[in-house]
Amino acid sequence: MPTASAMNRRQALVSGAAGISLATTTSQQLLAEDTKSEDGEPFELKYLLPSCMYGYSTLAEILPEVSKIGAIGIDLWPKVHGNQREQASEMGEAAFSALLRKNKTSVECITQYKLGPFGLKEEFRYAKLLGCKTIVTGAVGPRGLRGKALKTAVGQFIETLKPHLAAAEESGVTIAIENHGNNLIESPDSLKWLMELRPSDNLKIALAPYHLPQDSVILSDLIRSLGNSMAIFYAWQYGMGCMEKLPKSRELLQMPGRGRLNFVPLLAALKDVKFRGWTEIFMHPVPRGLPILDSTASVTAEINRSRSYLSTCLESIENQSNSRDNATAGTPGGKPKMTDDKKQTQKVVFDDYNKLNQREAYVILNQGTEPAGPGGYTMTKDPGTYICRQCNAQLYKAEDKFESHCGWPSFDDEIEGAVTRRVDTDGYRVEIVCSNCNGHLGHVFEGERMTAKNTRHCVNSISMKFIKKGQELPAKIVKKKD
Ligand SMILES: [Zn+2]
Repeated sequence: MPTASAMNRRQALVSGAAGISLATTTSQQLLAEDTKSEDGEPFELKYLLPSCMYGYSTLAEILPEVSKIGAIGIDLWPKVHGNQREQASEMGEAAFSALLRKNKTSVECITQYKLGPFGLKEEFRYAKLLGCKTIVTGAVGPRGLRGKALKTAVGQFIETLKPHLAAAEESGVTIAIENHGNNLIESPDSLKWLMELRPSDNLKIALAPYHLPQDSVILSDLIRSLGNSMAIFYAWQYGMGCMEKLPKSRELLQMPGRGRLNFVPLLAALKDVKFRGWTEIFMHPVPRGLPILDSTASVTAEINRSRSYLSTCLESIENQSNSRDNATAGTPGGKPKMTDDKKQTQKVVFDDYNKLNQREAYVILNQGTEPAGPGGYTMTKDPGTYICRQCNAQLYKAEDKFESHCGWPSFDDEIEGAVTRRVDTDGYRVEIVCSNCNGHLGHVFEGERMTAKNTRHCVNSISMKFIKKGQELPAKIVKKKD
């Protein structure tokens, strides 16, 4: 006889609605059934208002804004980003609760970096008092790890966290670890390990795309693999104006709909995993502690501007899936299939790769960059195919090339499967390499709105070789096993 009430609810749902025998039902099926009740309704984001967006404004001033941005509750921030956590303490629990009631809202999250994941005991007590179920903090541990060393370090962090997690469970609070550029949990892999190794549902992730590669393919893949181990999704993108004082228009590029990141794939992934956590439209101003714009009304308007951008993204996702459902013929998924006349046959040989000269090796093997300019293939407009200099694999079609005026050949699409994206060593840009030989090609940028596909593969001429239409393609080289 199961005792947990959540289990009972799931079982009731499963045996009642779907009639699946419990004896053969795995926990994954139970989980899937659990989310089925939401089917039929359009996917929506559940918003929280991060108090620090209003700097050190008073709680009395901020709380009425919660409903104006379509949010359910508030995320209380302490100094230096905000000071609403301190205000709440000074006010006392009774007065703060009354103020929350007056504004028909609640505290749904407290952000506490300074206390860190091992210093939250008192904060658990306070969260419980307010009925708040989520506390965001950062991880502790070395940065820059990869592979086995990263897995081991994440495991050690979780081991140290266990007694604190027990205390969180006792208070009914979830610790949400935000990925950050300066510690152990900084990369997609570190987040995946955190999710895979977490021993309790009271340990979750606060996903900050700002601190990750600004590539919607990488980010949406990550969201799909993290699923509902995310407690919070920050609708927040990288922008230079977060660390140095820049004009307001540049600072605001962190906001969804203003900067370069295309949020459509991210929201589509959130929809696919039936994300049930909170979304916070977010940015940091310089210096910290100021509202992002100078009046309360203008901060709210700016958040709503981003919210309306995100709504538009969600609408386009709904429309896409509707038109897919309605289509009786055609290709599933976003990408149109190449028609046969565009396919050029290519032989495959097992051999050593083409020999590279010094300049080629500098770019292709050592991630070098050619100087910008009109040389190479930058201005080439002839019909044909661009292949990999090192292995002859077909990379780009001439019809996907466009004039970007950036000084390098630019394409807004690749030949399917030909190009692999990975995080550049700078942690922000997205490097592209040949999927066959791993040779460096250049970088890919999204959201620049240069073409309808909103994507620019910025490729070094020297990494490619152009084969004019009608000319025979040299055989693609697959490396002999050593
Ligand atoms: Zn190649």
